[in-house]
Amino acid sequence: MTQTRCPICAGEAAGLAWPHPGQSMLSDGRIVQRPLAKLSCLGCGAGFHASGISGAEVRTIYDDDYALARSSPKSDAQRARAYCNWIRAEAAAPLNILEVGCGSGALLRELLQVWPGACGFGLDPALPAAGPSDGRLRLARGFVADIPEHAGPFDLVIAVNVIEHTEAPQTFLKALRSRLAPNGRIVIVCPEARSPNLELLFFDHLYSLTQAALLAASASASLAASRHVSAPREIGDFQMVVLEANASRPTASPASPPQELLAERNDYLGRWARLDQILLERSASAARLVAFGGGQTAALLRAYAPRTWSRVDAITVDDPSEAWTLGPAVVPYRDVLQQSGCGVLVATSPHVQAVLAERLSRDGLQPITWNDLIPH
Ligand SMILES: [Zn+2]
Repeated sequence: MTQTRCPICAGEAAGLAWPHPGQSMLSDGRIVQRPLAKLSCLGCGAGFHASGISGAEVRTIYDDDYALARSSPKSDAQRARAYCNWIRAEAAAPLNILEVGCGSGALLRELLQVWPGACGFGLDPALPAAGPSDGRLRLARGFVADIPEHAGPFDLVIAVNVIEHTEAPQTFLKALRSRLAPNGRIVIVCPEARSPNLELLFFDHLYSLTQAALLAASASASLAASRHVSAPREIGDFQMVVLEANASRPTASPASPPQELLAERNDYLGRWARLDQILLERSASAARLVAFGGGQTAALLRAYAPRTWSRVDAITVDDPSEAWTLGPAVVPYRDVLQQSGCGVLVATSPHVQAVLAERLSRDGLQPITWNDLIPH
């Protein structure tokens, strides 16, 4: 099925450049043998797949080995603390919290410490069938449709980095609303989409949601936003919208016109399409190639710069327990220092590449960066 109309606002949509002709990547690093063929809406600015992804495909993605939270327990805990601090500032002390897509339950545990009078119910398709349960916290395997009838209503419903993965954001929001207590609040966190960034490259991000797209989807679920804020710096390129059944409509803040956003997205994806060739040229003189960084950005290089990645014979990171499984062996940094003629492919997010490159150069290595081509 090819879509030319936006599923959120029914506006016209235009095709975006492909970052690779044959493959793309899920946010947990797995390669998908399909190009990333997305569209950009000229009405609300939403980004979405040119071919609709069915509910069955979505469930296949998450059912078994979706591993984002589990791949790195330490970052999972750090992320949970940062999100807890952000969310607690936006929600009055609730009694009954529902979190859809709760991962390991780390965020709910943090929130229950902050609000000792509250109970939490968490759902995630990647949890074991009989999820753990202790006192005030219950966790279960499933999607939003699997919330038991007797659970709730909830005065705080949270979905952190979930809505962009859903087949239909409006339907998702309606389902959350149906579990909401009178005067309850829904807190939606998702990647920022007012300018293109890494999130656009993930196949399982079925939607890139601008503020206008979020507000349009909320309105069709009879919800209105009482707040819309960008994440604090330590969390990164994310946004939060607080929805209520009876809130007065906020005025949308100025955003790039959708035509401009389309051009920016095409430019961004075009840069990713050129990256492999550029990195091959930049690394040509290195006798061997080691990647510094073993997380999501390294996985993006494996997916979208595969010819360069095939030259990488080892990965080095400061903390090996944080490295994803990406093929090449993970070696201690001190081993890399002893290699002469070794090029180091900087495989960390663009905004920290300059600092890292300085350190690698000081240590006598040859860093290969690409933040000049892709700055965010
Ligand atoms: Zn739209």
